[in-house]
Amino acid sequence: MTDSTIDVGVLGATGAVGQEFISQLSAHPWFNLTWIAASERSAGRSYDQATTWRLPIPCPESVTKMRVDSVLPDRAPELVFSGLDSTVAGEVEEKFAKAGHLVVSNAGNHRMADDVPLLIPEVNSDHLGLLERQASVRAWAGRIVTNPNCSTMMLAMALAPLRRFGLQAVNVTTLQAVSGAGYPGVAALDMLGNVIPYIGGEEEKIETETKKILGTLRDGRVDDHPVVVSAHATRVPVINGHTEMLSVGFKTKPSENDIIQAFREFVGRPQNEHLPTAPLRPLEYLTAVDRPQPLLDVDRGKGMTVTVGRLRQCRLLDYKLVVLGHNTVRGAAGAAILNAELMYKDGLLNQTDH
Ligand code: NAP
Repeated sequence: MTDSTIDVGVLGATGAVGQEFISQLSAHPWFNLTWIAASERSAGRSYDQATTWRLPIPCPESVTKMRVDSVLPDRAPELVFSGLDSTVAGEVEEKFAKAGHLVVSNAGNHRMADDVPLLIPEVNSDHLGLLERQASVRAWAGRIVTNPNCSTMMLAMALAPLRRFGLQAVNVTTLQAVSGAGYPGVAALDMLGNVIPYIGGEEEKIETETKKILGTLRDGRVDDHPVVVSAHATRVPVINGHTEMLSVGFKTKPSENDIIQAFREFVGRPQNEHLPTAPLRPLEYLTAVDRPQPLLDVDRGKGMTVTVGRLRQCRLLDYKLVVLGHNTVRGAAGAAILNAELMYKDGLLNQTDH
C-alpha cells in the first residue's frame, strides 16, 4: 500500500447508485474522483445539468461543474466504479477491462462468471484469488470485480456467520425499497399503497449468487456452498432499505444464543484492517421485538451495517429472523468502494496493463 491517493472514475454517475458513489468518493481518503460518465443523454453536460440530485445531503461542490463524459475508456483513470444500467453494463465494462481498467461493478452481468470475484470483503475476501484465473483465461489487460445484487448482499451477510452450524436451507421473502429500481423507477400509481410481488430476475439472482458468495475457493475456482435457497422477491412502498424475512434450517440446530453470539462476533478483514468504508460492526443484532425497520434502522452505521432481529423458532425449518440493509449503500456503492479498498490494501490496483 502507498500513501498517495489514486484517481478514480464513475460509470453511470447520474443514477441512484452513481449518486452514492459521488457522495462517498468526494470525501474518500485514498481515492480521488476525477472522471464521471453516463449515457449520451448526459454526456457533454455539467453534472448538475445532467443529474436530478436525490440524496438528502448536498451534491459535493467539487463535482457539480464536472463534465459528464461518454462511457469510453480513453480519458478514464485506471480504477472505475460502475453503476451502469445492466442493459449496457456488460458490454461497456468489458470494453474498459480490455482497455486495461480495473472495473469494480454493481451490475449483474459478470457476477456469476467463474473467473470473476463476487465479493463481500467481510465474507469471502479470499475470492479475490479468482483474479489470477481471470488474467489467464481472458484477453483483458484489466480486470472486473463485482459485488452482489442488493438483496443477496443482506442475505449473504446474515448467513455468513451461520455457516459454522451447517447451514442447509433458507427460505427468504424480500420487501425491497423503491430506490432499488433506480430513478425514476416504479411509477407512483403502481407503487403507492401497493405491494408488487414480482421483480424480474431477482429471485434467481438471490438463489444463485448466495451460494457462490458463501462458497469455498479451491484450486482457482469457487465451489458453491451446498445451502438450498428459495426466494420470493417483492417491491414495497419504502424509499430506502431492503427488509428480508428468513427461515433457516441447519444440519445440527444451534441454540438461539449461539446464533446471536455468531452475529455479534462477526467481523472480517475490513474491520481488522480498518478500511475507511468499513463499519465498526458489519452485523448488528437488535433485541427489541419490533426491529429492524427501514424507517428506524436503515441508515445506522452510515448504511454499511446490516441489522438483524426477531430470531425465533420456526415450525418448518429451525429459526425465523428479519434482516435489513441499505440497498444503495451496503447493497451497491458502499460495497463496491469497500471492495476497491480491500484491493488497494492488497496492492492489486496497479497490476493492470493500463
Ligand atoms: P439508474 O438510477 O437507472 O442509473 C443508471 C445509470 O446508467 C445512469 O447513470 C444512466 O445514465 C446510465 N445509463 C443508462 N443507459 C445507458 C447507456 N445506454 N449508456 C451509458 N450509460 C447509460 O440505476 P441504478 O439504480 O443506479 O442502478 C445501476 C446499476 O446498479 C444497475 O445495474 C443495478 O442493477 C445495480 N444496482 C442497483 C441497486 C439499487 O439499489 N438501486 C443496488 C444494487 C445494484 P443517464 O442518467 O445519462 O441515463
